[in-house]
Amino acid sequence: MHKTVPWFFSVHGGHSKEFCDHADSPLEDIILRAIELNMPVYGFSEHAPRNHEKYLYPEEIELQKTPEILINSFYSYCNTLEILQEKYVSHITLLKGLEIEVVPPDNYVPFYQQLIKEGNIEYVVGSVHWVNEHMTDFSEETFRQAVSAHNGLENLMIAYYQTLKNMVVSIKPDIVAHFDLITCFLKPEEIPEYAPNLIHIIEETLEEVKKNNCILELNTSGLRKPIKRIFPDLSIIHKSAELGIPFTFADDSHNIHQVGYGLEKARELLLSQGITEIIRLNKSQQKISREKISLL
Ligand SMILES: [Zn+2]
Ligand SMILES: [Zn+2]
Repeated sequence: MHKTVPWFFSVHGGHSKEFCDHADSPLEDIILRAIELNMPVYGFSEHAPRNHEKYLYPEEIELQKTPEILINSFYSYCNTLEILQEKYVSHITLLKGLEIEVVPPDNYVPFYQQLIKEGNIEYVVGSVHWVNEHMTDFSEETFRQAVSAHNGLENLMIAYYQTLKNMVVSIKPDIVAHFDLITCFLKPEEIPEYAPNLIHIIEETLEEVKKNNCILELNTSGLRKPIKRIFPDLSIIHKSAELGIPFTFADDSHNIHQVGYGLEKARELLLSQGITEIIRLNKSQQKISREKISLL
């Protein structure tokens, strides 16, 4: 039996089999695992539906899903989670979030704003998985295709951060997800030295994160990817800390084994950089609150 540790929580993850075709565990099993680990708060952030078939995930295409099916599944996610929030209220605080996308590039904002409202979504996790119509984190193959379509890694990375910056400004998500996800298929030795214009757009993006009052997550899913480190990298953590951007924790779980995965490492990483406090989302009187939690 683990004892309750205030910083042992996650606000991005809990992707479940019923509502995500690349997840492996039923939603209620994920909750039971979080309770078993004595997590005080667990935030669910299911992938948002996409309203055009061009942006279906590969496994959804295989299963012949349509945007309509995904939208129905979104409402079913909202209802199911509401029931389970009540059922387990004396054991754990479950939060109902949504991981939004940036597609279609020209009209994702009104579409997601409407879903957030209609689904009574409690908080938003903002992600960029697509850059100029290319899915960048699904497989090594699609990533390499995105690199060549942009005439090289540097251009792709710049386009990624431009997309991320626009998302931050227009959606103002509570949490900015896996900030440097674009590096996920690179092996550590493949990371290039960042050119000044790349550093510049990264810094501009972080400034918008700060201006728009967003929280930056330490996402442990990178430990499971070729890059083999937590997102984001140290230089981004430093710059964020300098700007006064708060951090939070994300296990990005897609099955019960990933619940709480790598959070000790994330804590150690922040402590090693002199960061001793993070933000935990919580709920009081049906409203989402931001609690400062000590890592010590
Ligand atoms: Zn996923
Ligand atoms: Zn994501």
